Amino acid sequence: MNTNKRLVIIGGGPAGHAAATSAARRGVDVTMVERDIVGGAAHLLDCVPSKTMIATGAAMSFTNQLSGMGLEDRDAEVDVTALTSRIEDIKNRLSNDVSDMLVSQGVKIIKGSARLTGPHTVHVDAHDGSTHTLEADDILICTGTRPRVPDFVVPDGEHILTTRDCYPPRVFPESITVIGSGVTGVEFVHMFASFGAKVTLLVSRQQVLPGKDPEVAAVLEEDFLQRGVRLFKGARAIGIERTATGVKVICDDGRVSETTHAVFAIGSIPNTEGLGLEDVGVVTDGGYIPINRHCQSNIEHIYAAGDVSGKLPLSSVASMQGRKVAEQVVGGPKGPHRHLDYDKAASAIFTEPEIADVGLAEAEAFASGRKIRVTKVPFSTTAKALINNDSRGFVKIISDPATGVVLGGSIVGRHAAELISVIALAVTANLKVTDIGDALLVHPALAEALTDAAE
Ligand SMILES: Cc1cc2nc3c(=O)[nH]c(=O)nc-3n(C[C@H](O)[C@H](O)[C@H](O)COP(=O)(O)OP(=O)(O)OC[C@H]3O[C@@H](n4cnc5c(N)ncnc54)[C@H](O)[C@@H]3O)c2cc1C
Repeated sequence: MNTNKRLVIIGGGPAGHAAATSAARRGVDVTMVERDIVGGAAHLLDCVPSKTMIATGAAMSFTNQLSGMGLEDRDAEVDVTALTSRIEDIKNRLSNDVSDMLVSQGVKIIKGSARLTGPHTVHVDAHDGSTHTLEADDILICTGTRPRVPDFVVPDGEHILTTRDCYPPRVFPESITVIGSGVTGVEFVHMFASFGAKVTLLVSRQQVLPGKDPEVAAVLEEDFLQRGVRLFKGARAIGIERTATGVKVICDDGRVSETTHAVFAIGSIPNTEGLGLEDVGVVTDGGYIPINRHCQSNIEHIYAAGDVSGKLPLSSVASMQGRKVAEQVVGGPKGPHRHLDYDKAASAIFTEPEIADVGLAEAEAFASGRKIRVTKVPFSTTAKALINNDSRGFVKIISDPATGVVLGGSIVGRHAAELISVIALAVTANLKVTDIGDALLVHPALAEALTDAAE
């Protein structure tokens, strides 16, 4: 199929490569410009390296729990060189696979920096010194974001860090202050604590993971306290100083956290400067590109997807947006179609225990006065949790009491990120609680808590 359409994609992260592959399959002539690696910051700097380090940290903590499995405990030591090459291998393999697949589908990849020079023209300064002027019917901007740091901080990459300075792990901090208790902050707390660092977490409000189900946050706080993490609740960083041994983080309530390192995990800012957006009239808001449900900016044929769109900053969402862009470029969806519903995106936090949720949260329903039915089953009631020697956590399903339709749910515990898929499918397909309850699942499996919660 040849549509005679030309799509230029700026950025090769999850949004860019999903759009490229999906559009190429539909016969669109696709050129992708990427200034770093195909796979994007997700593979190079954020999602993949952080999850790889967390997996190694989990393996380390597992060696201290062997006695519960009828084995002798062992203290594992981290081999920084081996861990670094493992991160590199995974990253390169993923990036090469994506590149090869795109090239095999006919996508042209240019390594370099791109900017818009007209509503249908993209200029590229390629890394090989060449320049290109690309003509496009449609343009997708998916240039991602980078870590935000407060005005009073100048990260030095040695002791004062952003999340991206933590890989490859040249040294493991003896002690570290993590500033920010959202998803990224708590994952970093978990990661460094697994590697034996003394961690202090600055929690600007009274609960880690602000906005999440308080019951879920409480499980995580308890785990942190048990592992010796110091929680500075209600503390915001207002200053940072270098000391002879590391850093001193000064909080607005007068407390001071002295550690060898500090890492800022307080959100991100969009990569939109220098893209020529103002010159062609693309509207931005705080640097992000507002989009409609088809991922179109204020200019119909200029799309934005992924983190730069200011929607949910998740790889999975970025990929789905990319696929929606491809669909729209060839004239919109064909056949039965669902619009991307950000409220139904599943997300996970890779701490120990893992935390995952989807759809309506209990606290959100109470706040809006919506009637809900909540069923909760602890994993300790399943045989598999005992076999695994890990009974922590629970499954919670939220449904509409009148219709039985599943509205949301949360899971805390081992494999929560995998198990939430069942509730996510139910939420997306408007299934009823009884549909989950009627499924004949495997025994012994943690998923049995799902069918029990659906009883
Ligand atoms: C520490 C951390 C952990 C995370 N873990 C998870 C997780 O477990 N699960 C999850 O779903 N999400 C996770 N995320 C979020 C996830 O990484 C992002 O949602 C995802 O990377 C967004 O994809 P994207 O396509 O928008 O952009 P990116 O992955 O940021 O890619 C954008 C690309 O655009 C390129 N680019 C920028 N400007 C230009 C230009 N002018 N010319 C050419 N190329 C350009 C960049 O080089 C980059 O490669 C995590 C984020 C962080 C910070």
